[in-house]
Amino acid sequence: MGETLTIVDLQDLDNAVITCRRCPRLVAWREAAATQSRARKEQYWARPVPGFGPADARIMVVGLAPAAHGSNRTGRMFTGDRSGDFLFEALHAVGLASQAHAVSRADGMRLIDTRMAAPVRCAPPENKPTPQERDTCRPWLATELELLRPTLRAVVVLGAFGWQALLPVLSAAGWQVPKPRPVFGHGVEITLPAADGGPALTLLGCYHVSPHNTFTGRLTQAMLRDVFRRAQEFAGDRK
Ligand code: SF4
Repeated sequence: MGETLTIVDLQDLDNAVITCRRCPRLVAWREAAATQSRARKEQYWARPVPGFGPADARIMVVGLAPAAHGSNRTGRMFTGDRSGDFLFEALHAVGLASQAHAVSRADGMRLIDTRMAAPVRCAPPENKPTPQERDTCRPWLATELELLRPTLRAVVVLGAFGWQALLPVLSAAGWQVPKPRPVFGHGVEITLPAADGGPALTLLGCYHVSPHNTFTGRLTQAMLRDVFRRAQEFAGDRK
């Protein structure tokens, strides 16, 4: 695959990504989780997880990769695990999600002006994709970002691994990333100009919503909501 794909809209992209089997280790891992689940009589998605949210979103939320028993189970970003519970509670509180609880793809959740996507679309062992897997998956997110460019103005990046994975994707999708590359931190805000003179994009760093951070108080609801409110300021009002 090239850096971006010749795909005309997000629906086509979502339909294409869920058939991808380019990373043998991740295909085996996502399907192994489903096999374990059959013992528990639960049907897993066990495929790449597409982006979630409207095609004219102004804000994007980016993590790193699906969790084996979270979105790899439910088939929707951040749905069905404790990380997602924390995230959707904050999104709902600031008006970016229609409800506070996400449990399945049929739960009625709507994201408002916001799209979620991951640099790596399949659940990796120990939540760690290899550099090769990360690079192999890059065209999916690069294409998604390119399709969203007309409206997208802010990206909230959850965690340092997602930040590192996202920067080369942004270059591929048409924004100028400074060198040396900006370093991740909670509360970091960086605006990237578009290479073609189009609208700029602001990145906002945020600690990841994993239980490791939320159970210890490293990331609180107030902190997360503040980051989303800042993203809303950068995104501006829809004209
Ligand atoms: Fe395809 Fe990305 Fe999954 Fe690899 S991680 S199999 S490139 S969707």
